[in-house]
Amino acid sequence: MSARGLWIDVEFCTGCMACEAACRQEHDLGPTEYGIKVVEQVLNGGQTFNYVPIPTDLCDLCARRVQQEGKRPACVHHCMAMVMEYGPLDALIEHMARRPRSVMWSPKPRPPRRPYEDLPGTTGE
Ligand code: SF4
Ligand code: SF4
Repeated sequence: MSARGLWIDVEFCTGCMACEAACRQEHDLGPTEYGIKVVEQVLNGGQTFNYVPIPTDLCDLCARRVQQEGKRPACVHHCMAMVMEYGPLDALIEHMARRPRSVMWSPKPRPPRRPYEDLPGTTGE
């Protein structure tokens, strides 16, 4: 599988933090743990706010959910503003070319945080 990542159109990110909550729920994280963190940028004396979600070291790109369940990452699925995409990096670069105020992240690939054997109905093979 080619390298994959997350693309976020920060121009239209509302800062709602649903991505943070969805990630925390998907991965059973504690209240002070983050798989993705929305950073607020305040400009023009507090008249302009920008929001930039940044994955942390806990982000595994929802490997279990994507690989075993065929779903999109939890943060992407729950972003009501629909400003997040998941996919191969070359496809995400095309998004960036069209949307200049966007960011792309490619967290280091790693095994799912919960082993496959944990999943109901799976054998771990
Ligand atoms: S891809 Fe999955 S692990 Fe990474 S930030 Fe989104 S919800 Fe969290
Ligand atoms: S859920 Fe979407 S709109 Fe809300 S903070 Fe995250 S990226 Fe931005």
